[in-house]
Amino acid sequence: MIAYLEHFVHGNDAESRQDDTDGDVVSSLDGLEITTATASAGKDFGGTKFSKPLAVIRPSSAVDIARAVRAAAATANLTVAARGNGHSINGQAMAHRGLVLDMRAMENHCFRFGAENGSGGLRYVDVPGGALWEDVLKRCVSQFGLAPRSWTDYLGLTVGGTLSNGGVSGQAFRYGPQTANVTEMEVVTGRGETVICSEKQNSELFFAALGGLGQFGIITRARVLLQQAPDMVRWIRVVYSEFEAYTRDAEWLVSLREGEGFDYVEGFVFVNSDDPCNGWPTVPIHPNQRFDPVRLPSNAGPVLYCLELALHYRHSHHPSTLDMEVEKLVGRLRFVEGVKFEVDVSYMEFLLRVKRVEEEAKVKGIWDAPHPWLNMFISKSNIAEFDREVFKKIIKNGVGGPILVYPLLRSKWDSRHSVMVPESSNIFYIVALLRFVPAAPKGPHAEILVAQNNAIIQLCYNRGFDFKLYLPHYNSQENWMRHFGDKWTRFIDRKANFDPLALLAPGQKIFSRIPQPLSIT
Ligand code: FAD
Repeated sequence: MIAYLEHFVHGNDAESRQDDTDGDVVSSLDGLEITTATASAGKDFGGTKFSKPLAVIRPSSAVDIARAVRAAAATANLTVAARGNGHSINGQAMAHRGLVLDMRAMENHCFRFGAENGSGGLRYVDVPGGALWEDVLKRCVSQFGLAPRSWTDYLGLTVGGTLSNGGVSGQAFRYGPQTANVTEMEVVTGRGETVICSEKQNSELFFAALGGLGQFGIITRARVLLQQAPDMVRWIRVVYSEFEAYTRDAEWLVSLREGEGFDYVEGFVFVNSDDPCNGWPTVPIHPNQRFDPVRLPSNAGPVLYCLELALHYRHSHHPSTLDMEVEKLVGRLRFVEGVKFEVDVSYMEFLLRVKRVEEEAKVKGIWDAPHPWLNMFISKSNIAEFDREVFKKIIKNGVGGPILVYPLLRSKWDSRHSVMVPESSNIFYIVALLRFVPAAPKGPHAEILVAQNNAIIQLCYNRGFDFKLYLPHYNSQENWMRHFGDKWTRFIDRKANFDPLALLAPGQKIFSRIPQPLSIT
């Protein structure tokens, strides 16, 4: 077993060797929709990594996926990558000279509603792994008045893609990430077997695949828990000049029980200037609202903080009761007096808010520009120092896009899943530097920003912070081992069990393909 593992673990950016028979394998997959027009599968949202696959397959079922995996397994070198919507940053959904499965080809399959343990139990929807969350939202709300409980901010992502990572937004403090809101999945493993798994059935695969970076199997269907969808949302932003006051209020809000607090809690850092991209103008919610800097205290620092909150309600809710409920909560917050913005929008409009940003960015031509993003989870014990060293110094002029920072609760994350979070306290913060790089010569080159990300990560190591990368990306085995810590052995065992040839998701660069023949002893 040890000898096998030594071979198995990725040394460095080794690439799979091309075998002359690989092309024959592709032609042997008759009946499958295959294209060698691979340009879009060779790039991603990050826009800094490029890689040419051998072929792109558009599967019409789990059977097609299992066939493709088994065909790759029969070669010495071929790898297989499921591609959701290609919204990774660092080539994670690519397969250099391998097979890419375009999961969106299955996006309209099996949407089926049901209830756990018969009609009285929790309601759910079975959705294809290649469905966009935006589509899940529209179908659930329009057909049944129901909606998933936990979201991502942006819904142009696939179910399989976010479940392979975590899936985090302003509801995660209450319901956990999207991975904690799935009760069953159908997965095609690296052995080419199609397996139904849940907490009770094939549980090891279920836990492994959730947050598993696509390493253990391809999610072809997921059972997603639902709740009653509200009609409307009161959407609020309040501004802070002190990080200490900001975190105190945010942590209080995420500690409140369902029905006693807001339904959505997020927040972001912005620059204390009139910069249209990073500063005051990014805070008002509605075009008619204006940020008035005169209200800011004279000793405010280079950056400010904004809590973003939302309360769900129904049309039948009496306006004065709603106002009272909101005031009861907002009245306890210590934000800068008078710097508050609020609007009432439909639930759909609220959940699709980032789609409007996408549309605007496409018009400006920055949606397709490089996005050297950095996503991290940082323990509560280190977040004040992170603020002093990173927000107030390294990125005090902004990152050309949102800088998210808001608290999450570790107790809502299942440690049996593969995703890694800080352990030292129940509260940790998600920090997301969502950089949009303007076309040259206007802004710094993407490489400079990648170097800045690396400097921030290094600072966290040097200071001994308890942190994890979210949507992790590493180039060395040592860093992957450090990322998984005492869960590394479990990760390796799961890999050996469910993808013994290391065929799957090669773009994560954790393992390299084991050439045949393989003997596991
Ligand atoms: P891909 O990028 O296509 O794939 C990601 C990884 O998952 C790859 O390794 C791939 O091989 C694997 N994979 C894909 N499909 C499957 C499958 N069916 N089964 C198994 N493995 C699979 N994340 C959040 O948590 N919260 C957010 O609010 C959020 N907002 C975002 C906004 C934007 C504009 C962007 C670009 C990303 C955002 N993300 C967010 C990150 C997002 O969760 C990841 O990019 C994720 O990878 C989903 O993207 P995708 O569906 O395009 O998957």
